[in-house]
Amino acid sequence: VKSSGRNDYCLFRAEMLEIVHTQQSAERELREAIAERQFELHYQPVVDIKTRELTGVECLVRWRHPTKGMIPPDHFIPLAESTGLIVPLGEWILLQACADAANWPEHVKVAVNISAIQFKKGNLFEIILATLVKTGLQPERLELEITETSLLENQDAHLTTIRQLKNLGLSIALDDFGTGFSSINYLTIFPFDKIKIDKSFTRGILSRADCKAVVASSLALAKGLGIITTVEGIETEDQLDYMRAAGVELAQGYLFGKPVPVSEFGRANAPMLTE
Ligand code: C2E
Ligand code: CA
Ligand code: CA
Ligand code: CA
Repeated sequence: VKSSGRNDYCLFRAEMLEIVHTQQSAERELREAIAERQFELHYQPVVDIKTRELTGVECLVRWRHPTKGMIPPDHFIPLAESTGLIVPLGEWILLQACADAANWPEHVKVAVNISAIQFKKGNLFEIILATLVKTGLQPERLELEITETSLLENQDAHLTTIRQLKNLGLSIALDDFGTGFSSINYLTIFPFDKIKIDKSFTRGILSRADCKAVVASSLALAKGLGIITTVEGIETEDQLDYMRAAGVELAQGYLFGKPVPVSEFGRANAPMLTE
């Protein structure tokens, strides 16, 4: 069917308007959700790969939507980032995570994911300092997880921020290691304390030569640079055995526990916060 150019244009315009409206209402909804604190933090255990003792937890945000139920971060973090709403949301996440962790035994660290947008804003150090002062959490108990996309531009400024945060006592982890293009390069530029091997490598570790090769070379590199390694996405004992034998120090995954709210701590398969 050949339609006239004018009708095509009208249709196109109507569709565009619809997309814009949908985006605007999604943004409005997210803005309201932040104001009304519809978010909830879940925590997933990170354990010593040899002893299985709890060393810390990773904080993972969820949106408890009034009508749609629990929404996972992959469904709203991208919009929060493109609209800049990740800045106020990220500040709330940091404050709540530090306030929660201040109630836990001292050996339990909390890791918080930081978006590239929060990093680019330029005041991350001040925000974090204020958050620590407000909650009384020891800086040594806070770890920030950043991805290499945070570091693409303004490397000098980011290096300064990372050094300031480390001087304060925080540790910094490079998340999703091996999935980007420049992970290795960044390890030599930025003083990371830890790398987190992406769960896509864990998924293939028993069957795929390429996954084995990436894990082996990541570990060699990390050890050479004095950096600790956490592996994500451990779901089976066989995956765990492989990663332990390969020399990974810390492990995270459904085998040890899914992310759960603080109210479920201490139940089966949730972080046991004992002294
Ligand atoms: P991530 O930082 O790589 O987090 C790990 C993801 O893997 C989490 O998904 C976690 O629930 C999931 N996971 C953990 N163990 C296993 C396992 O054994 N098997 C499988 N299949 N998955 C496992 P989640 O909670 O849906 O978070 C997805 C992503 O959303 C995170 O990836 C992170 O990039 C982002 N995100 C989550 N919370 C925050 C936050 O507070 N701030 C920011 N900026 N991003 C966040
Ligand atoms: Ca993470
Ligand atoms: Ca990750
Ligand atoms: Ca990820």
